[in-house]
Amino acid sequence: MGRNESLFREVNERIGQLDRTLARPGLETDSLWEFICECGDQACCEPVSLRSSEYEGIRARATSFLIVPGHDVAEIERVVERCERFEVVEKVDPDAAAVATARGPRTT
Ligand SMILES: [Zn+2]
Repeated sequence: MGRNESLFREVNERIGQLDRTLARPGLETDSLWEFICECGDQACCEPVSLRSSEYEGIRARATSFLIVPGHDVAEIERVVERCERFEVVEKVDPDAAAVATARGPRTT
C-alpha cells in the first residue's frame, strides 16, 4: 500500500495535464479521460473515465483517492463521493478506525 498509489497518482496527474495542454484557452474541455484506479490493490490498474476537472477536484483534497466503483476497502477508507463512472474515497486513520470498531455500534 502506498507505493502503487503514488505511482498511479503521478500517471493520473500527467493525464490531467495533457488534457489541459490540449484544451484551448478559455474553453472548458468536456472530454472523458481514462485515469487509473487508485485503490489499495497492488495488482489493480483498471481504467476510470472522468473529466480532468473532476480529477482536479479530487486531487484538491490530499486524502482523497479516485477508484473504480466498488474498489473501496471499508476498513481503511470511506466513500465520500459516488457516481456512475467513479468513486472517491478518503483514507480513514487506522488508529481512529480501530477505536471506532472497539467502541462498537452507537447506543444513543
Ligand atoms: Zn482498483
